[in-house]
Amino acid sequence: MSEKGIENVIIIGSGPAGYTAALYTSRADLNPLVIEGFLWGGLLQQTTEVENYPGFPDGIIGPELMPKFREQAERFGTRFVTDEVTRVELSSEPGGVHRVWVGPDEYRARAVILAMGSDPRKLGVPGEQELSARGISYCATCDAAFYRERRVIVAGGGDSAMEEAIFLSKFASVVKVVHRRDEFRASKIMIDRAREIENIEFLTPYVIERFEEGSDGALETAVLRHLETGEELREAVDGTFVAIGHEPNSRIVLDQVTTDEGGYVLTEDRSTRTNLPGVFAAGDLVDHVYRQAVTAAGTGCQAALDAEWYLRDTPPSPEAHWQMPSEIERDAEELAAKVE
Ligand code: NAP
Repeated sequence: MSEKGIENVIIIGSGPAGYTAALYTSRADLNPLVIEGFLWGGLLQQTTEVENYPGFPDGIIGPELMPKFREQAERFGTRFVTDEVTRVELSSEPGGVHRVWVGPDEYRARAVILAMGSDPRKLGVPGEQELSARGISYCATCDAAFYRERRVIVAGGGDSAMEEAIFLSKFASVVKVVHRRDEFRASKIMIDRAREIENIEFLTPYVIERFEEGSDGALETAVLRHLETGEELREAVDGTFVAIGHEPNSRIVLDQVTTDEGGYVLTEDRSTRTNLPGVFAAGDLVDHVYRQAVTAAGTGCQAALDAEWYLRDTPPSPEAHWQMPSEIERDAEELAAKVE
């Protein structure tokens, strides 16, 4: 196990929330360490055109946007570990030291910002992964505009599915909601709204069995199965929006930080404070409602400010040795200047 100094703040995760928290904490001179994962950049790294992030009037592709987030945080001294966190031990004592492991390497910090995001739940059927971003999407707000006058399917029966279908109906020629039961989990008001829209149709109780690609390599057919009759239905489609819920990436903190029944980390009032002192949470790890890059970036900023105020106001607990890496560097520089 390698021994390292105690960091001011460790940020776990590297989507818009994590990198924005890094930007703010680095500008506050806290010298943050981001443990960003192998596939850094979060879900936006896997999307194509992003047309709804303010400041980019011509749009920008996700894999170009996320390096910009990262560079901006790096400019002010953020350091990165491009690897996965394997375990954490979060202190429940005010001023305590939180411990984070990346394999055998242990990192310690006075404050931790959790920004691990969430992943859309997958159908897990053949063709889904291969045709992802070539006709299969998990976000109508992001991709609906690419389906003007096209035929699309929405998979799911909850509020998200209804909301996606209603939004898509403004662009697509036909929207078919495919759901595995005749009853819907969605609220009555959302179902009623969807039913009133002329170009929304419902197919129940059907499941999607597989997706097939056309000669252009994009999605062409969704193969459905009626759950009562067993009948197969081949739907010619340009797009399928999977809206069967999200799963927050809270596994590593589940037994330590308070979450709701869905695993989303709970925060106090309008802050990013969790139940543990010095542990903050931001982005889609907390938010199952808005889930936008811009809202995640906003809560990343809040988490950085909450962490900064916590570090300012909370005296270190006696068990901690308080020489920060930044202080070690400063001492070394001062010594070198004196020697010269
Ligand atoms: P959800 O309520 O959990 O609904 C998920 C839907 O997907 C259910 O209908 C479920 O079917 C279906 N499903 C799950 N796994 C499936 C699978 N493997 N194959 C096929 N279908 C599957 O999730 P959500 O719609 O994302 O909503 C999450 C939360 O956000 C809810 O509390 C919701 O009210 C809230 N929300 C609110 C709004 C709003 O008020 N405007 C908008 C969006 C979300 P079964 O029903 O058969 O289990």
